[in-house]
Amino acid sequence: MDQTTASFDTALLIGGRFVPGEGPAEAILDPAKGETLLDLPEASPEQVDAAVAAAAAAFATFSRTTPGERATLLLKLADAIEAEAEGFATLESRNCGKPRHLVLRDEIPAVADCFRFFAGAARCQQGMLAGEYLAGHTSMIRRDPVGVVASIAPWNYPLMMAAWKLAPALAGGNCVVLKPSEQTPLTTLRLARLMAEIFPPGVINILAGRGASVGQRLISHPEVAMISLTGDIGTGRKVLAAAQATLKRTHLELGGKAPVVVFDDADLEAVVEAVRAFGFYNAGQDCTAACRIYAGAKIHDRLVAGLAAAAAAIPYARAEDGENEMGPLISARQRERVAGFVSRAAEAAHIEVAAGGRAGAGGGFFYEPTILAGARQEDEVVRRELFGPVVTVTRFGDTEQAIAWANESDYGLASSVWSRDIGRAMAVAARLRYGCSWVNCHFMLASETPHGGLRHSGYGKDLSLYALEDYTVVRHVMVKLG
Ligand code: NAD
Repeated sequence: MDQTTASFDTALLIGGRFVPGEGPAEAILDPAKGETLLDLPEASPEQVDAAVAAAAAAFATFSRTTPGERATLLLKLADAIEAEAEGFATLESRNCGKPRHLVLRDEIPAVADCFRFFAGAARCQQGMLAGEYLAGHTSMIRRDPVGVVASIAPWNYPLMMAAWKLAPALAGGNCVVLKPSEQTPLTTLRLARLMAEIFPPGVINILAGRGASVGQRLISHPEVAMISLTGDIGTGRKVLAAAQATLKRTHLELGGKAPVVVFDDADLEAVVEAVRAFGFYNAGQDCTAACRIYAGAKIHDRLVAGLAAAAAAIPYARAEDGENEMGPLISARQRERVAGFVSRAAEAAHIEVAAGGRAGAGGGFFYEPTILAGARQEDEVVRRELFGPVVTVTRFGDTEQAIAWANESDYGLASSVWSRDIGRAMAVAARLRYGCSWVNCHFMLASETPHGGLRHSGYGKDLSLYALEDYTVVRHVMVKLG
């Protein structure tokens, strides 16, 4: 594959065989141009059932492989992905509209590293010592795979979300049926080609299709033991409803509305640089996006001015890929949603549109990087997740108010605190009720560190040894001594 003539893989992977979808076709778009790339038939109900059956059959042997054997497969996959980095970047860029150079720089290396991390992690799990906790009996703790995992991924980082789901599940010895978003299946279908060459048939099955049809049938399947979803809160509720019938394990990552608490003594240049980078990265379609700023009274006006200038300077929709810092929104519908939030906010007398506030020109689904100053805690735009390139700024009075407002959210995924007083920053970070709190930085992830939320952001961790725990079950074996 090269940048101009990317070929598309359209077949589903079921039980080691590539088969065309037998369900209705879905239009797959290029959001940067607003054009249809191809029509892709989704899996039929029978194909969903066949994928689960294939995973269940493969589980009998794959669950008994050694950690070292699984690690070897995961390392091969990481190498294969890296060898096709250029092609994957092209595909992801075309299907999501993202600047290709950023996919190549930021996403593909993280995807390969995720598989490598879990290859290593599989081999060094830790636990309590075997011993005689009851006299005359030796206890041993095992960590065994859960079974067939149904993994459901969103559209914002399709290949990376596939990696976050596949790597810990496979490292733990599970077999997987993965459904990418119906809007962004192309890199996952390409990944299926690589995985089929490396993993035994049935260990990984890939189904394209919509949530309401393919997804719903998959998560409701009685042979699925665990559902892992990254997606919307409403979809999370559907997963829980589907899980209750057969008491499946669930792992939910459901969005965020990250507060960024900026004290008067913060390094403002660093804050502006970080919000420019991480409030607008992926056009703000990121559950950890630095989108809800709380600014100390003394620096509020300077911060708004700095952020407005920075947002206005973000290049996007340029013909030269390497110049773009930001892509479009994923769909016309998502852009309308974001525009609706901004126009309702702009009607309030207390809100100033300090930068942006309009759709971008051209056929793509672009929206201007937008700063809304003067937003209040009770405003819809402060409380709801927009998933777009929109950052609000709210002035706070004292530390207690900043912490209370930051925590007063349905979401609980990521947050950051900015201050040159490291003692204060750490004291505040300790009181923030978020899965992650960064100090004097935002958005930094490593494969070794956990990612996951509280409250409506869901539960369960991606990345890190904690994810491997989530994708395995603790078992106790006790032996009576003779
Ligand atoms: P979505 O919930 O609409 O879709 C996510 C996936 O769920 C898709 O594959 C979709 O087809 C599937 N789905 C939808 N209905 C289903 C059903 N009834 N049964 C089974 N599957 C179903 O979310 P989206 O619009 O693709 O992604 C955006 C959302 O994801 C945002 O809310 C965002 O915050 C969240 N997100 C969270 C994280 C995180 O780590 N917490 C990361 C990325 C995105």
